[in-house]
Amino acid sequence: MTSRSRHLWSIPIDRRLAIVTGASRGIGREVAKRLASDGHHVFAIARSADNLETLVQEVVDAGHSAEFRTCDISEGHALGELVEEIAETSGRLDILVNNAGITRDGLLLRMSDEDFDAVIGMNLRAVFGACRAAARPMMKSRFGRIINVGSVSGISGNAGQANYSAAKAGLIGLTKSIAKELGAKGVTANVVAPGFIKTDMTESLLSTIESEMTKRIAMRRLGEPADIAAAVSYLASEGASYLTGQVLVVDGGLAI
Ligand code: NAP
Repeated sequence: MTSRSRHLWSIPIDRRLAIVTGASRGIGREVAKRLASDGHHVFAIARSADNLETLVQEVVDAGHSAEFRTCDISEGHALGELVEEIAETSGRLDILVNNAGITRDGLLLRMSDEDFDAVIGMNLRAVFGACRAAARPMMKSRFGRIINVGSVSGISGNAGQANYSAAKAGLIGLTKSIAKELGAKGVTANVVAPGFIKTDMTESLLSTIESEMTKRIAMRRLGEPADIAAAVSYLASEGASYLTGQVLVVDGGLAI
């Protein structure tokens, strides 16, 4: 496991502790900032320290609380081990947002085994490891919020994304099963399924078909990372304590 960290703030006892993966850019960065502004202490995770340092600095400058860890989630058990380590050293873990994800798009006939395995490994296998590591401390404290970032592709499928859609569909089954197993212990597990959100992941696609895509969205605009962060913030809140095993589609009405 690769893990580099910078701690700018000791964890105040009254704050909930949240882990956000893929926090260096896009949706995850916005989720990390939103959870910090909600009053949680955020552990921001991604591969390289560069963007995470500026994120933590931004959060701290705004008067909130965060630190970061680097981790290459594609490396087998790395994320599960890191989640376990954070929970052990902090003495608790309240919120886990599995947001990091990759695409390796290609039509079925041309999709390699490597591209299939890489996407399943990152987008599903690593999430399983993180959820398993989070379950024990959450059950112990009888509070937990597991929020897995899926995709509308995991509900409807998408041509050219057999690997990605399979992983995101698997995430829904994983999350519903976890919700059933952990509900009695006060732990909820839900999926947020974004539609088309403006990030690096969709940049090349949207540069060519943005206006076409916008016509298919009821709200007539692409989503912003903050739209997803708002949904995550709600699912992490006290107010969502009776909401579990659900898939919250945040797509501006694309899929209706
Ligand atoms: P993004 O802009 O490409 O950002 C991906 C994040 O994942 C980055 O922080 C990246 O950090 C991290 N990451 C990638 N590979 C990693 C690895 N091996 N180890 C650790 N971290 C890694 O993606 P996004 O658009 O924000 O998407 C976030 C989530 O939303 C994903 O699960 C995606 O499937 C889902 N989603 C996005 C959209 C959309 O329209 N954008 C739609 C539906 C679902 P580093 O590169 O710095 O390590």
